[in-house]
Amino acid sequence: MFEMVVGLETHVELSTKTKIFCSCTTQFGGEPNTHCCPICTGQPGSLPVLNRQAVEYAITAGLALGCRINKRSVMARKHYVYPDLPKAYQISQYEQPLCEGGKVTLSNGREIRITRIHIEEDAGKLVHQGGMALIDYNRGGVPLIEIVTEPDFRSAEEATEYLEKLQTILRAVKVSDCRMQEGSMRCDVNISVRRKGETAFGVRTEVKNLNSFTSVAQAIEYEFERHVDIISSGGVVEQETRHFSAEDGTTSSLRDKENADDYRYFPDPDIIEILVPDEVLERLQAELPELPDAKLRRYVSELGIPEDDAKMLTKYRPVSEYFEKASEGVQQPKTVASFIITQMFSRIQTEAERENFSPGTTAEQLRELVLLLESGKISRNVAKRVFADMLDTGKSAHDFLTEEDLAGFDASQLTSLCQAAIDENPKTVADYKGGKEKAIKALVGAVMRATKGRADAIAVEAELKRLIGQ
Ligand code: ADP
Ligand code: MG
Ligand code: ZN
Repeated sequence: MFEMVVGLETHVELSTKTKIFCSCTTQFGGEPNTHCCPICTGQPGSLPVLNRQAVEYAITAGLALGCRINKRSVMARKHYVYPDLPKAYQISQYEQPLCEGGKVTLSNGREIRITRIHIEEDAGKLVHQGGMALIDYNRGGVPLIEIVTEPDFRSAEEATEYLEKLQTILRAVKVSDCRMQEGSMRCDVNISVRRKGETAFGVRTEVKNLNSFTSVAQAIEYEFERHVDIISSGGVVEQETRHFSAEDGTTSSLRDKENADDYRYFPDPDIIEILVPDEVLERLQAELPELPDAKLRRYVSELGIPEDDAKMLTKYRPVSEYFEKASEGVQQPKTVASFIITQMFSRIQTEAERENFSPGTTAEQLRELVLLLESGKISRNVAKRVFADMLDTGKSAHDFLTEEDLAGFDASQLTSLCQAAIDENPKTVADYKGGKEKAIKALVGAVMRATKGRADAIAVEAELKRLIGQ
């Protein structure tokens, strides 16, 4: 009966070494107020100089998200008073942002339109401690992009899928590490509610500074219920800015919503306009790597990787790089994918570990193992066992392969071994003949044990069936 309408504003810190207007480091953490200078603390007489790399990263982000890049854009002052901003204005962009009009396509086929991407400086951080508010300016002046969408989301799931895709894309093009837990990716949720079928939007509220996917989803669900309750009891939603509490998943009023007039935006006279020459645009376009969606399609259609596996591999840039390196010269990249997903991913389960993917086994070592398997020198079972040992120790396949393993399985023995298993297990054979399909697995198991896992289980099963005659 009610429908939610959601638009997201996402702030992403760019991976430049230095800040947007000075040469202070952007490194996360550090003793409070040690990564600062007169420029990023807004001292009188200091002058900002725009970091070229920040502009290039922002353009790359825009290209990766299908935006038009404006050849001319302008930095503007956005005024507000808060202790995290010593100048009392933030240098941002307003009327002429760097990028406009991109999109992200969701798995349900819906397109989320990106209104704009602009560059701006991050503010400092308030630290509440022992009844005091302390201020750390290390983060002040770190370059940000703000990615604003149209109000195109209709569910919390769509919003979180979009954020995950955004994260994967921006990491793939290496403009940000997008770590929500470190605040290098943060999200504001704008939400309104309307009766299904209505075309006009309802009054929206904005929930600020969400720093995990779960918080985004919880804030959306909570606000949706709250709006629906107000509207269905005949009330009116007030336009305001709200705060989300991760402890209990609720939101509370922070302040009335300010509007653009309150910020008194005007072009910053200290910074010349940004002009993007054609050569720069062409270079950045040419340097754009294959994007995650395209990679996923290629893995599925050209490499024959099952879609779910391909999704896992392309979600984390270091994993897809590892996979591609390990697959060089291999006949079946699918086999490499399956080793990574089943054996490596079961050992590294946290998002952070997968994102920083640094396995003890090198891509070359995995490739060597898969080549041994493909050449028929070892069986799949032996390969699995050996790979587990490799992952435990960081050593190569040859350190674990016994002479027996390498002697492999003499295929001419297949029939006699299968016949022996049949002769030794008359009851199982009878069960199978009587219609118990699963009984065949017990016979396969017997042959596999007899060959210490070196036979090919699929070939064994086929041979057993042939001999039993069914
Ligand atoms: P502001 O600059 O005041 O935050 P914008 O008009 O730039 O406002 O919109 C900010 C975000 O709010 C955008 O993501 C936009 O899609 C979203 N938005 C605007 N109107 C609505 C609405 N009625 N319901 C939900 N989201 C909205
Ligand atoms: Mg806003
Ligand atoms: Zn500085």
